[in-house]
Amino acid sequence: MVKAMKYLGIKITLNRVKIADFQDILCNVTDKLNAWSKKSLSLGGKLVLIDSSLLSMPIFLVTHSIVPKRLLFELEKLCRSFLWHKKDESKGMHYVAWKEICKPRCYGGLGVHSPLDRIGALRSKLAWNFIQKPQSLLHRVMAARYGNDVMNGVHRKINSTAWKILVDGGKCLKMAVRWSIGKGDKVNVLNDTWILDRCLNRWPTFIDCNALDGVYVQQFILSNGLWDYKKLQNFFHPDLVHLISQVHIVFEGEDHLELMKKCSGKTVSALVYEQILINRFNMEDMDFFPWLQKLKLKKKVEVFWWRLWKAAIPTNLFLKNRNIASDDSCPRGCNECESYEHIMVHCKHMTEVIAKMVEWGIPIPVYNSLDSCLQGLKSIAQEKSGIAQIYCNIVYHSWKN
Ligand SMILES: [Zn+2]
Repeated sequence: MVKAMKYLGIKITLNRVKIADFQDILCNVTDKLNAWSKKSLSLGGKLVLIDSSLLSMPIFLVTHSIVPKRLLFELEKLCRSFLWHKKDESKGMHYVAWKEICKPRCYGGLGVHSPLDRIGALRSKLAWNFIQKPQSLLHRVMAARYGNDVMNGVHRKINSTAWKILVDGGKCLKMAVRWSIGKGDKVNVLNDTWILDRCLNRWPTFIDCNALDGVYVQQFILSNGLWDYKKLQNFFHPDLVHLISQVHIVFEGEDHLELMKKCSGKTVSALVYEQILINRFNMEDMDFFPWLQKLKLKKKVEVFWWRLWKAAIPTNLFLKNRNIASDDSCPRGCNECESYEHIMVHCKHMTEVIAKMVEWGIPIPVYNSLDSCLQGLKSIAQEKSGIAQIYCNIVYHSWKN
């Protein structure tokens, strides 16, 4: 009897998969890291390598098999230490939390794709395929054994890996799809999404929950394919009845699922991932980063400014406040305390460069405080992006030297 085999790179086994089964991928990652750590890379460069190469390695495996979460934690840990530890492999301080770095750019992070966050989104495309192709062999086999409701299925008692993956994907897929109403016999009033973009259960609203429990949409549709307003008014608030009246009914058609955002040009996985992120993060203090992104700086300069925004650059004042250094004056001999304001606005090193450039006829602005600097850069980032770019580069290089 065969107890385990590999098919298209995926290990299929009768036993539970262990971390040891995925040793290859950890070996690959450490090999790459060993090669890269010999080079001297900037933080921005390392981030590019991590995002484009390391973190995409387990994507295929994560989508098609149950990978132990601990393996992914391990992988991210390797990435983190590669990012912050020094070249001689001594430990370095982690200035910004990994979670912040993994936040998407529109929410103020650096947009690194953590595989842990993407598991559900990646699998949702399999669930979507399963729903869209009822004639496929997989669908028929699975439906006969476990039923075909992947979006509300539970997999506690079922051992099938394939079913677990489908249900996991279906759970996330729910966020990006909506029922189009036909006969209404498949759509549960409370649990399924059929009005706007969420199901009534997740909506604080005025409905008669007890009476609607287990009721299907069919009961509110008349035999001529129109809404039964009398009945609707008994259960729903007038505003909601108005909303429901706008839901289109396909007369005598079957209920079917559709994507909420059609023609967006994105894959199902991308749409679901977007929804997951929207549910997780809220717009924070986002005044700073958008204009910085528009400048299209070099990655290392952009990451430097991003760290300035996160207050995570080890200036001497920063180190003194943490009892790591005893002297907080600027190491370039300005006889001033090296604060963020100093390196962005006052440092002799950069003001000299700016003065020289102004002499040559390049109108680089001079600011006198941190706030005016940020406000000023923000306002010129639109029209005179070249000037703002030069300013950002000067600050970066004078700090580097
Ligand atoms: Zn200085």
